[in-house]
Amino acid sequence: MNNESNVTPTALDVAIVGAGFSGLYLLDRLRDLGFTVRIFEGGSDLGGIWHWNCYPGARVDSTVGYYQLALKNLWVNWDWEEKFPGWQEMRRYFDHIDEKLGLRKDIEFDAWVRSAKYDEDKKMWLVKTSGKSKGEISTYAKFLIICSGHCSKPYIPNYQDLGEFGGVLCHTARWPQNGLSLKKKRIGILGTGASGIQVAQEAAKEARHLTVFQRTPAMCLPMRQKTLDKEANKRLRRTFPKALEERALNFGGVDKDMVFIPQKTIEASEKERLANYERLWSLGGFYFWLANYEDMLSDEKANECAYAFWRGKVRERVSNPATAEVLAPLKPPHPFGTKRVPLEQSYYDIFNQDNVDLVDIKKYPIESFSKSGVRVDGKTFRLDILVLATGFDALTGCITTMNLENGNGVTIQEKWEDGVSTYQGICSSGFPNLFFSYGPQSPTAFSNGPTQAECQGEYLVKCLEYLRRRGIQRIEAVKSAEEQWCKACEELANDTLFPLADSWYMGANIPGKTKEMLCYTGGLPAYLRVLEESNQSGYADYCLE
Ligand code: FAD
Repeated sequence: MNNESNVTPTALDVAIVGAGFSGLYLLDRLRDLGFTVRIFEGGSDLGGIWHWNCYPGARVDSTVGYYQLALKNLWVNWDWEEKFPGWQEMRRYFDHIDEKLGLRKDIEFDAWVRSAKYDEDKKMWLVKTSGKSKGEISTYAKFLIICSGHCSKPYIPNYQDLGEFGGVLCHTARWPQNGLSLKKKRIGILGTGASGIQVAQEAAKEARHLTVFQRTPAMCLPMRQKTLDKEANKRLRRTFPKALEERALNFGGVDKDMVFIPQKTIEASEKERLANYERLWSLGGFYFWLANYEDMLSDEKANECAYAFWRGKVRERVSNPATAEVLAPLKPPHPFGTKRVPLEQSYYDIFNQDNVDLVDIKKYPIESFSKSGVRVDGKTFRLDILVLATGFDALTGCITTMNLENGNGVTIQEKWEDGVSTYQGICSSGFPNLFFSYGPQSPTAFSNGPTQAECQGEYLVKCLEYLRRRGIQRIEAVKSAEEQWCKACEELANDTLFPLADSWYMGANIPGKTKEMLCYTGGLPAYLRVLEESNQSGYADYCLE
């Protein structure tokens, strides 16, 4: 592919943005097939979110056997230490991947993609990067694959006087790589999503004082962490590779046992329902969320039953009734499970400790930030460190800030100004030879990361091989097909309770962002059938030149 006359000798077949699961999978597969490929990664090492999210307690919430690549039997000589590994273990795992596959040599680190422009004459993307220690690098590539993940762009709320704070201010996803000690410090945590919960549990162990500023109560489920010894790993390995293969048949790309109960909540007697709830609760992990009654995420009454059970469990753990009411209010702020469900190990217990406070900033909004701390309801909370666990401009944020411009001078942020628009979560019409992996309008946040990285990655590999075989230089999705896909995504989401929450799934955590479901909610198997049809049809909904 690299020897067309109008192409500079250094032009790549494929440029990939991002060295997480998605980018690494594609790099290895495409390189094996003889494509010239290079990853451009803004961070200083591989691992994607596991490079950035090195805050105390950062941990995987998917069960470990499933949260890994099946590629080239990488699991054969790898032992997992914990059922839900922490960031340090994930980094060792990425080193293991690199040791086996030798990926680092084809990755340009400290290389943020600042812009990419499609050149219609050359039929190439001109990708420009820069980093802290590097000047601008320009590279031509025939295809550009965006593997920038769904949570690469941290979100910091726009408080006018946040800069007044005189202590250490740190977003969880930009935690210092050489660490930041919480010991004996006065810590504040702003935000109670999955990251906020994880830091709070660790901070409570060693902080002089911890204040959790809660806007919306997190509906956490018990993690039920376990350490895994040699024997446990042997047993686990016996289930591979079948279990890894079967992930693609599961709604969330995980364990085949994690399936919704094929029954409506009210069809079960109260006794039967409570027994099922208790069973799911004791299994831990995402079971209570993703293996509950089939209508839990689509029927308000069914959802209320699940919420009532969850609330009872939480209140048993918190000794102060007023604190318990803030953590698990009688009236849910949104339906259960319509925001990303965090897993916890000691989150609810920490509020029984003398060194931990909970502040309800929904009821008493933050008044101001000052040199010494945060002022709420007339009281200043003096802090040494303020942790911003305020999440991400998820799914689209890192794509729209990349300045992707098509041959007509239109940028993707202009195209998506009023809402995201992709064809099958794989590409966007008007932007030829550009693909996404683990991006918007595909299962993404509802799918186990590595499973989708492999499944979607494989679709792209097949597609690029097909184009190469036929000498096709340009591929672009048909606009009307894209419109249908957007409509299908919207209709699927409207059959669920997800639109009732102001979640990042819905883009609603970012002021001014269009509120819309940003992921495909039909589940991974249905999505993969769509991709398979596209492969089989010879990319019928694309213009190929
Ligand atoms: P990422 O891992 O996000 O990697 C994207 C890479 O792209 C990053 O390294 C980033 O630096 C780089 N990048 C972005 N923009 C640019 C640019 N302009 N130029 C250059 N480089 C760029 N998913 C699960 O399934 N289970 C879990 O338990 C789970 N836990 C999570 C915990 C945390 C704290 C977070 C933040 C996410 C979690 N996720 C989880 C989601 C996670 O994103 C996926 O599991 C997985 O990491 C996706 O891999 P990826 O390669 O697609 O993206």
